[in-house]
Amino acid sequence: MMTTMRTKMTVRNRSTVTLQRSFLFRLIPALLLLAGFLFTVPTTLQGQVNLNETLKRWEFTTDTSRVPGTTRWKNKWSRIEAERNKSYITLNGIKVWLNSPITEGNGIYYIQRHDFDKTFFPIVAPQPDVSAPVVRRIVIDPGHGGKDPGMQNTRMGLNEKALTLDVARRLKFILEQRGIKVTLTRSTDAFVELDDRSLIAKRVNADLFVSIHFNSAGTANTSANGVETYILTPQGQYSTNDARRVARPAEVNAREIGHGHDRWNALLGYYLQATLVDKLDAEDRGLRRARFTVLKDLPCPGALIECGFLSNPSDATLISSAAYREKIAQGVADGVLQYQGIMQRLASQNRAAVRR
Ligand SMILES: [Zn+2]
Repeated sequence: MMTTMRTKMTVRNRSTVTLQRSFLFRLIPALLLLAGFLFTVPTTLQGQVNLNETLKRWEFTTDTSRVPGTTRWKNKWSRIEAERNKSYITLNGIKVWLNSPITEGNGIYYIQRHDFDKTFFPIVAPQPDVSAPVVRRIVIDPGHGGKDPGMQNTRMGLNEKALTLDVARRLKFILEQRGIKVTLTRSTDAFVELDDRSLIAKRVNADLFVSIHFNSAGTANTSANGVETYILTPQGQYSTNDARRVARPAEVNAREIGHGHDRWNALLGYYLQATLVDKLDAEDRGLRRARFTVLKDLPCPGALIECGFLSNPSDATLISSAAYREKIAQGVADGVLQYQGIMQRLASQNRAAVRR
């Protein structure tokens, strides 16, 4: 931690902000788990949850922003920011995308009940649960491979398939040092069908699945940059990048095996995104939802991480360096380890509660 601090201080003026963010989100689980048993069911109004009232009960204070239509709640450990009509909420500096926009009336902010249940509550107030899948074995999935190169930056000679494999190997090494059993869906430049990747997770009885990817916005858009994490879109909700929101009942209501892990997916995705953004000091594109094939039929919680844009010259230059890819692996490992710690506590708190 100290080394990271010093490095950041010398590199950027933004270091103070980064430090504060990293400090805050590292402490959030401690607070929330301690308070876990005290949480009461918040008020609902036509499928909406009153955030002001809920967070007041959870001992947050309102820190009204001078910007109209925005608000902020905070306590000693955490900071939550909401903006009227925006389809995301910011948790300790990390953008978490929602199915429906936040609404506001007379200074009271509301979040839709489905967003509260599937996204907000599982991240902000994870509840003890005997079935919480404790992390012993993880499947790491290096995206693409073989005949499928993935995204490319031909000018710089970068192929997504080689970069994802490199990061996956580094991540495997770090996690094995921490006593986690690791299986790769491919350890060479081989083509693996998308369906087979979740089958591997089933075969080895994985507790966790993380797919590694790099983004591209095409040659026409070189400005898009940063990091984003995807988790499976819950049943009845829209995927984040589905801007048109055309009604497609079959897809929106699809019953996928992965839905059984919705709340753990949210918790996992949040910590992966937070630790990666922190470690890389990268642009935060948020925790997002998508119905990616590799996420649909997972037997365990899972997420897909886009670790940067090969189409962005600055991102691509960083990604081309082995030292930066090592940092990516460390950031993802930090997220996995934080999630592992939380799951352990959720499971053991429950055992304690049962004993009482
Ligand atoms: Zn990819």
